[in-house]
Amino acid sequence: MSKKECFICHCQDSKSNPIYIKKGYFICQNCYSNKEIENIFMNNDIFDVQNEDSITNFNNISPKDLKAALDDYVIGQDNAKKLLSVAVYNHYKRISQKDILDDNDDVEIAKSNILLLGPTGSGKTLMAQTFARFLDVPIAISDATSLTQAGYVGEDVENIITRLYQAADCDINRTQKGIIFIDEIDKIARVSENRSITRDVSGEGVQQALLKIIEGSIVNISPQGGRKHPHQEFIQIDTQDILFICGGAFDGLSDIIKRRLGRNTLGFNSKKKEIDDKKNYLHLVDSSDLMNYGIIPELIGRLHIIATLDEINQDAMLNILLKPKNSLIKQYQKIFRLDNVELEFEEKALKLIAQKAIDRKTGARALRAIMEGLMVDLMFDIKDYVNSKLVVTSDFVEGKSAPMLIKKKNKKKII
Ligand code: ADP
Repeated sequence: MSKKECFICHCQDSKSNPIYIKKGYFICQNCYSNKEIENIFMNNDIFDVQNEDSITNFNNISPKDLKAALDDYVIGQDNAKKLLSVAVYNHYKRISQKDILDDNDDVEIAKSNILLLGPTGSGKTLMAQTFARFLDVPIAISDATSLTQAGYVGEDVENIITRLYQAADCDINRTQKGIIFIDEIDKIARVSENRSITRDVSGEGVQQALLKIIEGSIVNISPQGGRKHPHQEFIQIDTQDILFICGGAFDGLSDIIKRRLGRNTLGFNSKKKEIDDKKNYLHLVDSSDLMNYGIIPELIGRLHIIATLDEINQDAMLNILLKPKNSLIKQYQKIFRLDNVELEFEEKALKLIAQKAIDRKTGARALRAIMEGLMVDLMFDIKDYVNSKLVVTSDFVEGKSAPMLIKKKNKKKII
């Protein structure tokens, strides 16, 4: 992990004094919350390369820093994290040094948007959100399926930009450098010959509309969103530097990949075995598979970086409960601590929670609902537990008994 260090006081990142990134500089909470420093920092041009906004100086950050920021919150998915960190780094580096690059030669670095393939609840949205927070850029999260439902396809697609504009507090400059995450992109695939005889024209229509904004165009948006009126004022947003991250589970894509590989490797046993050993076939995806799935070639051509996420297994599920900086367990322990209650979890209980989450087949997103269900009664009775330790046991998780309550003073087991 690369070390984060405050550029003012040179302290290292720590729990009590975390390091943030502002205007592309690492700055610790203590320094940033000092009004005097903040005023000088935020209002002084010398901290801006182009005197624009927070991402203008990208010299202090490396792809390793971006990966480290992800590691704090996203468990596993190392391959995807690495690919994404490089892609996001290159994207913002390109933007922040555009003028310098343009002056020196004619080589134009093309914009690279990202496609994330992976099961639901595996961390696709979380990664995009973590980047946005770390880089201090606005983010808008949209669902591609909502785009197909509306009659006015073009207008709907523009609403994604409106959402980003609103997330940027109506700052056009920040909007134009934000991140747009489009979830369920696989659901707008046209139904190809491999999956059905009929064609879903509306899906293709939405893909075409998305293509326009993803490849970079000037979009007129109405500041409040909704339908356009002839007499309404529009705001023009250039989408050239907006980073688009598309995500989807792509059910059935593995079969398309397997079919292609099966055909190509017939007779080559060792290669075939190597392929069979890879459980997640999505790692072997190429653009022809996506085309077969029903994504139009033009759109695939705009999503240069393809990263694959793995399904969350029991180990990862356990780690997700415990390890992220704001893990669910840490959050609940903090809530209970505010009432002077120490909350503890038996290992067996944690494993059971992880297994229950896996059984729900919605990835790690199931954890919150399960934990909420377990904790609600305890939180309701929180005042009965003041100055005590509550131990969540596997029997409690299974609904067989109450949690163990240990009074702090005499440490006597009450339940
Ligand atoms: P999706 O892949 O469907 O976009 P999300 O990123 O929205 O899934 O994940 C849903 C929730 O599950 C997140 O808010 C987070 O709490 C948890 N989660 C999912 N994957 C991970 C992961 N790899 N590490 C940590 N938490 C995760």
